Amino acid sequence: MTHHTKDPREIRLAGISASPGICIGKAYLVDREGVDVIRRYHVPAENRKKEISRFKVAVKRAKDELRAIIDDTPEDFHQHANIFETHVLLLKDKMLYGKTLEAIESKEINAEWALKTVVAKAKAMFRSMEDSYFRQRADDIVQVSDRIMRNLTGAEPVNIADINKRVILVARDLSPADTSQIQLERIMGFITDRGGKASHTSIIARTLEIPAVLGLKNATRVIENDDLIIVDGTSGVVILHPTEQTLVEFEEKGLLYESRKAVIARRSHLPAETLEGRRLPVMGNIELPEEVVSVLDHGGDGIGLYRTEFQYLGRMDFPREEELFEKYKDVVEVIAPLPVTIRTLDINGDKAVQFEPENGEENPALGLRAIRYCLKKRDVFVTQLRAILRAAVYGRVRILLPMISSCEEITQAKALLDEAAQSLEKDGLKYKREVELGIMIEVPSAVILADVMADEVDFFSIGTNDLIQYSLAIDRGNREVAYLFRPLHPAILRMVKHVADVAKAKGIRLAMCGEMAADPIHVPILLALGLDELSMNPQSIPVVKSMIRMISEDEAKGFLEEALKETTSSRIEKLINDRFGKMLAERIYHD
Ligand code: PEP
Ligand code: MG
Repeated sequence: MTHHTKDPREIRLAGISASPGICIGKAYLVDREGVDVIRRYHVPAENRKKEISRFKVAVKRAKDELRAIIDDTPEDFHQHANIFETHVLLLKDKMLYGKTLEAIESKEINAEWALKTVVAKAKAMFRSMEDSYFRQRADDIVQVSDRIMRNLTGAEPVNIADINKRVILVARDLSPADTSQIQLERIMGFITDRGGKASHTSIIARTLEIPAVLGLKNATRVIENDDLIIVDGTSGVVILHPTEQTLVEFEEKGLLYESRKAVIARRSHLPAETLEGRRLPVMGNIELPEEVVSVLDHGGDGIGLYRTEFQYLGRMDFPREEELFEKYKDVVEVIAPLPVTIRTLDINGDKAVQFEPENGEENPALGLRAIRYCLKKRDVFVTQLRAILRAAVYGRVRILLPMISSCEEITQAKALLDEAAQSLEKDGLKYKREVELGIMIEVPSAVILADVMADEVDFFSIGTNDLIQYSLAIDRGNREVAYLFRPLHPAILRMVKHVADVAKAKGIRLAMCGEMAADPIHVPILLALGLDELSMNPQSIPVVKSMIRMISEDEAKGFLEEALKETTSSRIEKLINDRFGKMLAERIYHD
């Protein structure tokens, strides 16, 4: 029977799939370091009481953590929560609790050192016992004391960029700035307690091509440093203390994933043409200049979104024009003759600059973000625009304005573009003013005003990450509402259709650079809607291109009519899966 083969210590945690793939390795908790550097020091009599209560508080915190884990464990896994019940009992065990208090008193030492010595003795005693039950208890004592110890020593933040072992990062949360510091060759994958599907953290994980699961709620409390864990980024599951059998199963799954990916990658350099022969450029989104290579490796037809704000994060000042110009020029030259869509600074929201006093807005997503910030900080904006116009000399540059919600913003941005050009002229620097200008359609008001806005620009790019956030009122980084973040919501489909119809009538190009474009199952709908260009994390380019090659647009158009009649996300998702899911599973992933 299966339950005999399962180690009761194996624990499965369910989270949000943020970046596909499987990795198996040791856990490294980033916000809980310093546990093993414990000092011994003398605690004089007058401080003894304080030291004792410090220990008691740490035990209480450890107990609260364990209680929360037990309460949060789903019904089905209750047998696994037993181990934590045992830990709760051990917290107040005389051998551990009583002896530590005694040691603080009698040896006049600090709580950490007292706990350490008591645990060392208890461990040695249990380990020497014949009975395997008691030997197991030794492990439990160590885990419990580690938990108390962490609460005693407090969490020391670690600089992610300095991590130099092949590990799986386990963190409560990683900001987009943290994530962009991750050194690819050092980190196998990462998991976090917080975070939603369309958060920038999860987008970066996809770009880095490392498996990631977010929104696990409890990972940092359940997982200890050096624990063996499996991260299945494809299905959003993390397995702690896997059994031999589970390990084998996931090693095989991982190999299968890699081999399928390799098959798809082999065809990624072919153009993406529908069965009728319409060619659709499939481009890559990048956050940092170095990622251009990844777009080319994955067969991208250009850069559809260069998120320039990452060059402003993790530093204490604004980059200078020269610095920006050099980076942009690199990107433009490497990708030429293919186009680069440089999006102007989309700072704040979840990507705040560190050195600005006005940070700490109550509603950052609705605050001084993106174009609003740039129109207020004109010198910062003009510096960037000058750098872009100078880089434009070296290839095909387009400018994309983020978070446009009114026509004035376009007018003002254009005026500043002129100003940038004139100042470059005056300074006698080489530049190119004739660059295409587009806007992100990611705020509902821009959807409604698409017809008037179309007269002002050369192209639109739909940002579904924010469009969904703002029109369905769902924080894109919040795990609690991640289940509501559904691109196939009928309201979203209607909005995209409206924008597509307007773009067609006005004769301007329509792109999509939100993550909706990265899921191959959406391809038939997007083709039928009349999207002219798709852009996504580089990793998704090959599979999306393969899907495009399978689709007849005429057939997809008929299908779109059916889908638009449906009134719920679930119905539309089912309709699409029934019709195209099999094609995706069999013809793309298997041949
Ligand atoms: C979007 O909002 O869909 C988008 C592409 O921009 P970002 O994810 O950088 O906000
Ligand atoms: Mg956006």
